[in-house]
Amino acid sequence: HLSVRLATVAKYVPQGSRLADIGTDHAYLPVNLAQRGLIAGGVAGEVVKGPFENAAHEIEREGVAHQITARLANGLQAIEADDQIDTVAIAGMGGTLITQILTQDFERLAGVQRLILQPNVGEWHVRQFLMTHGFQLVAEEIVSEDGHDYEILVADRQAQPQQYTAEQLRFGPYLLAEHNATFMAKWQRELARTEAVLQQVRSAKAVPVEKVTALEAELAEIKEVLQ
Ligand code: SAM
Repeated sequence: HLSVRLATVAKYVPQGSRLADIGTDHAYLPVNLAQRGLIAGGVAGEVVKGPFENAAHEIEREGVAHQITARLANGLQAIEADDQIDTVAIAGMGGTLITQILTQDFERLAGVQRLILQPNVGEWHVRQFLMTHGFQLVAEEIVSEDGHDYEILVADRQAQPQQYTAEQLRFGPYLLAEHNATFMAKWQRELARTEAVLQQVRSAKAVPVEKVTALEAELAEIKEVLQ
């Protein structure tokens, strides 16, 4: 049984695909998809030994070892040409780390048509990466679970992806258009957080004027979206 967050990631894995789940931890995502017959097979990649062993045990215990291979490797190095991976999922890390992983061994994505990414923070970096590396965003979701909000970004390979504005990169073109309650709640919280930071900065001595200006611009941007 997957969490709401991972179930949303799973929803965007094309039926019959070969999936690499990078930073898989317990391999819940690929194991669940294999058990439901939704993927042909794939790889569960982990860079840390403990989580890698968790993944290997889970795959064995759930009887999907003929479909899913656990690999101890850094990022996309878990993917080998013979795996014929066409879909990559990276979930539960910061957007900067996800972007680093994708950039580091970019050539390993040669056969990959779809990326499903779930950054915990720094979604902006991930959208910027996609737009500049030949992947077109095709869907976005924001889900709430255990008091946290998670964004799920889905992108397909495309030679000339749409170029987004700074506002679209920050808020997400699809999330911005949909403007649902979870999205509003997230940015209400971000508004309060940014206001608190601004107040703190203003009360400090020798405040760098650029910092105040940048925070004010951020506030204005958030306020506009919340209108
Ligand atoms: N993907 C799972 C999920 O969403 O529930 C697990 C998320 S867990 C918070 C992040 C995992 O990513 C950890 O197990 C960590 O060891 C792994 N990780 C971090 N950097 C990695 C890298 N460069 N390559 C592979 N795995 C990595």
